[in-house]
Amino acid sequence: MKIHEYQAKEVLREYGVPTPRGVPCFSVDEAVRAAQSIAGKVWVVKAQIHAGGRGKGGGVKLAKSPDEVKTFAGQILGMQLKTHQTGPEGQKVRRLLIEEGADIDKELYVGMVVDRVTQKVCLMASSEGGMDIEEVAAHTPEKIHKVFVDPETGLNNAEADAVAAKIGIPPASVPQARAVLQALYRAFWDTDASLVEINPLVLTGDGRVLALDAKINFDANALFRHPELVALRDLDEEDAAEIEASKFGLSYISLDGNIGCLVNGAGLAMATMDTIKLYGAEPANFLDVGGGATAEKVTEAFKIMLKNPKVKGILVNIFGGIMQCDTIAKGVVAAAREVNLSVPLVVRMEGTNDEMGRQILKDSGLPIISADDMADAAQKIVAAIAEK
Ligand code: ADP
Ligand code: MG
Repeated sequence: MKIHEYQAKEVLREYGVPTPRGVPCFSVDEAVRAAQSIAGKVWVVKAQIHAGGRGKGGGVKLAKSPDEVKTFAGQILGMQLKTHQTGPEGQKVRRLLIEEGADIDKELYVGMVVDRVTQKVCLMASSEGGMDIEEVAAHTPEKIHKVFVDPETGLNNAEADAVAAKIGIPPASVPQARAVLQALYRAFWDTDASLVEINPLVLTGDGRVLALDAKINFDANALFRHPELVALRDLDEEDAAEIEASKFGLSYISLDGNIGCLVNGAGLAMATMDTIKLYGAEPANFLDVGGGATAEKVTEAFKIMLKNPKVKGILVNIFGGIMQCDTIAKGVVAAAREVNLSVPLVVRMEGTNDEMGRQILKDSGLPIISADDMADAAQKIVAAIAEK
């Protein structure tokens, strides 16, 4: 789960990470009042969307007066902000962060992720902050310093100090940097984060260490123990179909193609998408109905897939283990009737009660195309949408 920069900064402040003073705003008037409440000469007007690269896209502007804050807030609020992380359609800006302008001496980078190989939290730090860290990793990987933190001890003083020195923190500011890095690690740990990224972490003209940007992603599997974090979720930033699917316990991800897929099991869903691609088409979604799919769940899954106007055909691929093919077949027939299915539907089922399942599909009188195996199914759906 992702949250906004201003929310991430609120979380980090609780752990003692210094950030500029800032106020989240939902209107231009609020933005002007916020600037007036933050004493100073320079303010930054920042679009709040769940994507980075806002600065380059025109979503972060430096204002030298409350009047300029008003102008920029007016421009940014409501804009369709396009960055390299939003995709070509961009993301609508509904919230702003008005922040005091910092006196930046150096922009640095600090990130933390879970490293699956070592099964530890990996701290990454670089002197090359403020730019795409992916570029730094690709062209000058030696400028990214890594520490794999021992979960028993946490990030110790020596490790923190060594990293701080490597990224160019002057000795006088190292104790502060140490405190910041250790606070970031504690925040990562306590919140079950999957990513914490501060880009840039800055050194100010007077030698202070400050988090100027903040991104936190949380591990969705651990959210049950963090209701206070779940409360930060912003559904406006999430895909409507994915939210709808999650209400029915369906794992659904929107994709760009035109073949809707309904599969049981994440691995089989991945293999099904690969097979569709192998025969020259693109999947419109990833959809795993899970092990305990009922007829109702299958119907909801059909409705969600068909809301996508790009869908020109549907491929159902079921392996009946605990899940029985006749149950799924009944669900498919009921769903096809309820939604008045008007696109070609190919069904491949194998396993428990598969014969019964195929018979149910046949007896339904619906124009459902049966397939014998995955390759056959993919070829049939690709051919069926080509004919249309
Ligand atoms: P993004 O990564 O989405 O582009 P950032 O929050 O990193 O957004 O902002 C982009 C750039 O804007 C930063 O690298 C920094 O140079 C500048 N900036 C952001 N916040 C402030 C601030 N409070 N004071 C001064 N400059 C800022
Ligand atoms: Mg940034």
